[in-house]
Amino acid sequence: MARQAWEFIHDPDRKTFLALEEVNFTRNVLTSIPAERIPARSGPMRILVVVAQPLGLGALSVEEETDVIRSGFRRLLDAKLADVELLLDATPELLHRALESASAPFDILHFIGHGEYREQDDCGYLIFENAEGGVQELDSTTLRQIVCRRGIRLVCLNACETGQGGREDFNRGVAQALIAGGVPAVVANQYPVLDVSATSFSRHFYWALAMGQSIGDAAREARVAVNYAISGEAIDWAVPVVFARNPAQRICVPRPAAEYDRTRTASLRQRRRAMQDRIKIGMWNAHRMIPHLPEICDHLTDVQNVYSFETVSFPAPIGTWRREQDEDQAYVVAETLYERLKNKPKELGLDRLVCMINFPLKSGNKKHLYYWPLEPGKSEHLSIVSTFDLLDQLTGGEFTVERMMAHLAAAVVADLIPHLPGVGPADCPFFYNKDRDISSIAGRLRFCAACRRQCKKPEDKDRLRIAERLLAAYP
Ligand SMILES: [Zn+2]
Repeated sequence: MARQAWEFIHDPDRKTFLALEEVNFTRNVLTSIPAERIPARSGPMRILVVVAQPLGLGALSVEEETDVIRSGFRRLLDAKLADVELLLDATPELLHRALESASAPFDILHFIGHGEYREQDDCGYLIFENAEGGVQELDSTTLRQIVCRRGIRLVCLNACETGQGGREDFNRGVAQALIAGGVPAVVANQYPVLDVSATSFSRHFYWALAMGQSIGDAAREARVAVNYAISGEAIDWAVPVVFARNPAQRICVPRPAAEYDRTRTASLRQRRRAMQDRIKIGMWNAHRMIPHLPEICDHLTDVQNVYSFETVSFPAPIGTWRREQDEDQAYVVAETLYERLKNKPKELGLDRLVCMINFPLKSGNKKHLYYWPLEPGKSEHLSIVSTFDLLDQLTGGEFTVERMMAHLAAAVVADLIPHLPGVGPADCPFFYNKDRDISSIAGRLRFCAACRRQCKKPEDKDRLRIAERLLAAYP
C-alpha cells in the first residue's frame, strides 16, 4: 500500500489534489524506534549541503558550484535565517566526519546527488564519489548509521528514487530507513524530478520552516509553490514525498513573516538601483523552454558590470506565431516577427530584447536560422533566436543550456558581422552555423582572430572584453 503514489490522491468533492489543500499530507513508517525529540529553535537554521555528483556532472569549478548552490539559499541567507555549510565532492567518509565533528548539530542535511533503488537486492542507495573519483554506493542501513542520532531535524534528499520503499521490508528505502531510525522528517523524491521543481520545492519549504510553520504545513506551501513555478504544466509538486514522524512539529519558533518580506523588498530595491545604470537586455523565453533562465540571467549579470540580463514575459501579440510553409517545414519569418515585436523593447524599458522561440526560423532564402539579425545594426533593439531541435541535444555533460545562453549573451553584446557561411573556425560565436551543429552553440567557444580584428574602436574593444567574460561565464 505504501508504495502507491498517494500524493496524487484527487478529491472529487473539492475537485483538487488533497496534497495541495490544507490537509497535512505526510507519510510515516512503522518502527519501534522513537523519533529524536528536538525542541523548536530560534536563531538561524544550520544547514549542511552535501553535494555528491559522481557521474561526471561536476563540470563547474568549486567556486562556481559554491555560487550556484548558495544562490539557491540566497533569500534565507540574506534574511539571516540560515547558515549554510557546503560539503562538495562528498564521500561517505567526509559526510561522517562532518556530522561527527560538527561544533553544533546541523538542523537540516540537504543532499544533492543521485539515488537509486535496486529491485534485485530490494534496497535504496545514495551514490557518492570515492577518493579516487570512482563510484561509492551507500546503502540505506549504513546511511542511517551515519546520520541518525546527530540532532538532525530534517533530511532533504534532492536525488531520484530516494522515496521508494522496499517490497519485502518497506524500511529499506533511503528515506524510510532514516525515518525509521529516528530522524524526525525526511523529504525525498519518488520519481526523477525536473531540477527547477526540486529547487522551488526546497526553497519554499525551508522558508516556511524558518518562519516557524510545522513540517506538514510547510510541505503544503512548498507544493503550491512548485505548482506555479512550473506554470501548472506538470504535476511535479507530487514528486517530493514528505515523511514526518510528527507533521505538527516545528523546526523554528514562529516569526512574523512581514518583517522578512520588508527586508526582501529592501534588498530587491537595492539590486534594482545597482542595475539602474546598466544596459538592459531582456530575455523572452517565449515558449518557456528554459525553466531556470532567471538564475542564468542573474549569473550573466554578475560576471560583468555593464549589462543586466533579466527574463521578461508578456503575452505574444495576436498572429506572432504565424508560420509560412516552405517545402516540408513551417517557418516563423524573422522580418514579420520583427514587425510584430519591434515596439516591445521600448514598452518594456529594455535596451534590447532577445526573443527565444522554439519554431524553425527563416529570413529571405536563409532557412533554419539560429540567430537573427545576420547583420549588426539591422534590427535595432531586437534579436531572435530559434532553439528548434536544439534543446533536446543539450545532454548536460559537454553541452549545457547555461553555456548556450552565455554564448548568446556574448554574441548579442559583441554584435559583430557573422562569418560568411561555413567560413572560419566553428568554435567562434559568430561562425555561420548552417547545419545548426550543437557544438558551435553550446560547446566551448571563443572569438576568432578575424572577429577580434573587427573591433577597432575603443568602445568596440570594451564590448568585446565584456562579451569574453560572458563567454567564460560557464567554463
Ligand atoms: Zn569569428
